Amino acid sequence: MVYLTGAGPGEIELLTIKALRVIKEADVIIYDRLANPQILKEAKNGCEFVYVGKEDGHHIMPQDDINETIYQNSLKYNTVVRLKGGDPFVFGRGGEEGAYLKERGVGFQIIPGITSAISVPAYAGIPVTHRGVAVSFRVITGHESPNKKSSQIDWESFKSDDTLVFLMGLHNLEKISKKLMEIGKPKDFPCAVISRGTTKEQKTVVGTLQNIVTLSKNIPTPALIVVGKVVELREQLNWFEND
Ligand code: SAH
Repeated sequence: MVYLTGAGPGEIELLTIKALRVIKEADVIIYDRLANPQILKEAKNGCEFVYVGKEDGHHIMPQDDINETIYQNSLKYNTVVRLKGGDPFVFGRGGEEGAYLKERGVGFQIIPGITSAISVPAYAGIPVTHRGVAVSFRVITGHESPNKKSSQIDWESFKSDDTLVFLMGLHNLEKISKKLMEIGKPKDFPCAVISRGTTKEQKTVVGTLQNIVTLSKNIPTPALIVVGKVVELREQLNWFEND
């Protein structure tokens, strides 16, 4: 059995009880950089570890090779845990891994994880929805340049008051903020960059579409971007960082 397992956003206690159980039972754990390495200490003696590193959304190992690695391990071991940061289906390519296994007749289960998309803002005191402020939120890949002709992102649709959460977007922050101003969001529209969320190194930078690039220069990854009026609630709700 292969468990496509979410490791949560970083803080070890944000791991689910189910994930912890399969980690303790695993014969092999195939993991990414994003998963808190402390989690691996929960594995039993003799458990194998396979690192298929993933940095800021970029795989060091091509996805096809990761799929094959999981498959090969499933032939060797009874209990295979594929551990991924956050949730396996939120920009985690868990769907591709599941489909690859299914085609080859290998049984798998999905263990959802707490995604960084909501938990990291929460640890920064930013609720992704809030009565009277935002009735919905959207989680968007920031990996695609907004200027790319073939972009699948409907930028015009971001005119609404949805909270926008961009993952993997730090290197495109300048383009993203420009694009949002182009579609009509005000220059002083609130946004935040949150780095290493839920860990001891968490750092939040709050600014506007106009100045966020300058303010968040050199901030370490992983980091996500939140755009929306909900960012202002941090003034009342910040609980985790002392600033
Ligand atoms: N499956 C993951 C997301 C994978 S994409 C999930 O559900 O959380 C990787 C991106 O997630 C990073 O580029 C970053 O934007 C975001 N991310 C993951 N962990 C984070 C953390 N602890 N703090 C800030 N951003 C994080």
